[in-house]
Amino acid sequence: MRFFNKSEKLDNVCYDIRGPVMDEAYRMSADGLDILKLNIGNPAPFGFRTPDAIIDKMKSDLVDSEGYSDSKGLLSAREAILKYCEKKDIPGVSVEEIYTGNGVSELISISMNGLLNPGDEVLVPAPDYPLWTASVTMAGGKAVHYICDEKAGWYPDIDDIKSKVNKNTRGIVVINPNNPTGALYSKDILERIADVARENSLMIFADEIYDRLVFDGKKHISIASLAPDMPVVTFNGLSKSHLMAGYRAGWMVISGDKTNAKGYIDGVNLLSSMRLCSNVPAQSIVPIALDMLDTGKDLISPGGRIYEQREFIYNAICDIPGLSAVKPEAAFYIFPKMDVKKFNISDDEKFALDLLKKERILVTHGGGFHWTEPDHFRIVFLPELDVLKECMSRMKEFFADYKQV
Ligand code: PLP
Repeated sequence: MRFFNKSEKLDNVCYDIRGPVMDEAYRMSADGLDILKLNIGNPAPFGFRTPDAIIDKMKSDLVDSEGYSDSKGLLSAREAILKYCEKKDIPGVSVEEIYTGNGVSELISISMNGLLNPGDEVLVPAPDYPLWTASVTMAGGKAVHYICDEKAGWYPDIDDIKSKVNKNTRGIVVINPNNPTGALYSKDILERIADVARENSLMIFADEIYDRLVFDGKKHISIASLAPDMPVVTFNGLSKSHLMAGYRAGWMVISGDKTNAKGYIDGVNLLSSMRLCSNVPAQSIVPIALDMLDTGKDLISPGGRIYEQREFIYNAICDIPGLSAVKPEAAFYIFPKMDVKKFNISDDEKFALDLLKKERILVTHGGGFHWTEPDHFRIVFLPELDVLKECMSRMKEFFADYKQV
């Protein structure tokens, strides 16, 4: 008999959307149990609505958007993205270096497939947004994780980055603001990362999808603005900052001096045209969405929903003996640390499973983000305050006598 096995290309690709914790959550839901979900960075189920003006625009554009667009995207969308790049001081970009995608996810894959050969290495943060590691691997490369240091506000450890660069290293991924830590990087740390990239001829891949979800009046700085002399690929979109994940609207911009990146750009152009184009109705709303940058600002300001949820979750975690956390400066994630001695934890996935079974709370264990110690987990603080309050009171009870066996 001929068996249809999964491709060997996927053998080392690790992307734990399923796994024992999710399987158990599906089973419990199927049994009619209510689960408190603190695991998905998807705003819509928690009552965040797309502004009517954007919905109306898409409705009216549907009539005219029946065909494929240019493979890089509608000119109107790319012109709006170009204006956004100018606002962020991203240099050396024209509409030719802008690609729209079905979310940033598709473009991460294109960006890696366009670059990597077997044996090539890419520096990826730990903890990471795991799609990066999976995409590097899938493209035939090797993801080498550099440490982000919790004691330094989860900033990347520059010495660790330097120690991991070798002749095979082709690029470095910078996720800023960061998922899962909620860290927002300073100009100084970004300059130091850019210096390492410059000294070692690394291409920078900057995932900035949370750049407009920044708290406390802080400012997001695009690393591309600090690196006009080298090619930088910056990713952004509407899923997070515009809280519109289901529309699948993302983009990728290649900025800076591209003299040594012509071959790479050929590869990216080829891959971009192989998928014909990204969803055209979703592209058509990019200009209006980027004209409405202030729309969600009240959500992240004092009194606003996401701001208040961040305040609550941070204080509630600090209130649980054995837990600690760095206060997120951006995005809607927090990555608490557990005292593994106190709770006798040696397996963070088992912890997540125990929490789910006992309290019906779903979180993601730190290992899901390539964090190798069993001492962290991620909370998404998008659910409404009442739900977060219920979760944290149950979590407090859980940790009061938890000892992993
Ligand atoms: N990059 C990061 C850091 C993310 O957290 C996510 C989604 O959670 C993505 C990219 C994917 O975004 P998109 O919806 O644009 O594919």
